[in-house]
Amino acid sequence: MQEIRSCGECSACCTTHAVKALKNSFVPCVHTAATGGCQIYPDRPLGCRRYRCAWLQGELKLSERPDHLGLVVNSFAHQRVSGELSDQLPINVLEVWEGAASTRIGVAFLARLASYGLAIEIITFGSIKVDESVGPEPYVDRLLD
Ligand code: SF4
Ligand code: SF4
Repeated sequence: MQEIRSCGECSACCTTHAVKALKNSFVPCVHTAATGGCQIYPDRPLGCRRYRCAWLQGELKLSERPDHLGLVVNSFAHQRVSGELSDQLPINVLEVWEGAASTRIGVAFLARLASYGLAIEIITFGSIKVDESVGPEPYVDRLLD
């Protein structure tokens, strides 16, 4: 039986991802609760409702929750072609804080992902300009195609 996961205290994507009309990438959302989670959960924007990272989808180990790892992985769902994982599209991994991909834990995690033979695109913290209107959100939309 597939395990059902919930975000719990994690709100890592509330920093890493752009939300249309609310915030840019790599900016903590003003609605993030001090203890994690969303203060306006029932009224959160559509982009927030739709987004489910790879961990939430059950594609990563339980211990690899983004707020612990410092890395948010977009779901592998858009890599699936006829049910098979494609190595043509990179898996997007976003740093929750600067340097998260370079820590011992981060490097070991990325090596594990790479061992599946998939291309990985690491989006380092702040690498998408704050005034840029196009953040990782298009990837969210692509999951829904
Ligand atoms: S990063 Fe994943 S687990 Fe964390 S709040 Fe976002 S969707 Fe939930
Ligand atoms: S509105 Fe809520 S769910 Fe959306 S980014 Fe902000 S804190 Fe996260």
